[in-house]
Amino acid sequence: MAISEDRTTIGVFCGIAAGPSARYAQVATEVGHTLAARGHDLVYGAGGVGLMGAVARGARAGGSRITGVIPAFLRDREIGDELPEQTVLLVDDLLERKRLMIGRADAFLALPGGYGTLDEVLEVVSMAALGLPVGPLVLVDVADDWTLFQAMVDEIQDRGFARRTPLYHRAGSADEALDIVEDLLPAGRRLLTPGRL
Ligand code: AMP
Repeated sequence: MAISEDRTTIGVFCGIAAGPSARYAQVATEVGHTLAARGHDLVYGAGGVGLMGAVARGARAGGSRITGVIPAFLRDREIGDELPEQTVLLVDDLLERKRLMIGRADAFLALPGGYGTLDEVLEVVSMAALGLPVGPLVLVDVADDWTLFQAMVDEIQDRGFARRTPLYHRAGSADEALDIVEDLLPAGRRLLTPGRL
């Protein structure tokens, strides 16, 4: 369920690290800013540094309402000194964070990241594979970051361990990713922003 009924909430999964080049933070900032500019709210992992921090700063600059969900044990490690203004939900553990983030988002974008990002992506993908209610997911590439993941999924399907159902989309920019999300969201959840009526 979304945080509010009249606005769409986008869950963003991404690394707490900054990635191999400045381009990663730039795209993460664009993702945050673009979702805000299109009138969406953000739910994410409450990180103040790395790509997470970049997404949140972009979203904040664009005027999004932000909810950050973080386990207490990660607070000191991942929030940093300059957390953009947001509602922070402190939870007990990683599973609770994932459950809350997934439950509060209407759709998901995943930027590159590490094990935590992969874990969150696989949770959404496996829920979709089982037919459980979960929003659409778009993997956002900065530099072909999701190609190996795609190869793994193809291999799993080739070996018969999963059906060949498309469970996510891929995009190469923030605008492309949000175009996909907005096309997929049920009409009632689609935001009526000027120019997109
Ligand atoms: P990462 O993609 O590894 O940079 O992590 C993104 C976020 O997920 C960070 O807040 C990590 O602390 C968190 N995280 C790391 N490992 C896991 C995991 N196994 N399950 C869920 N979240 C995780």
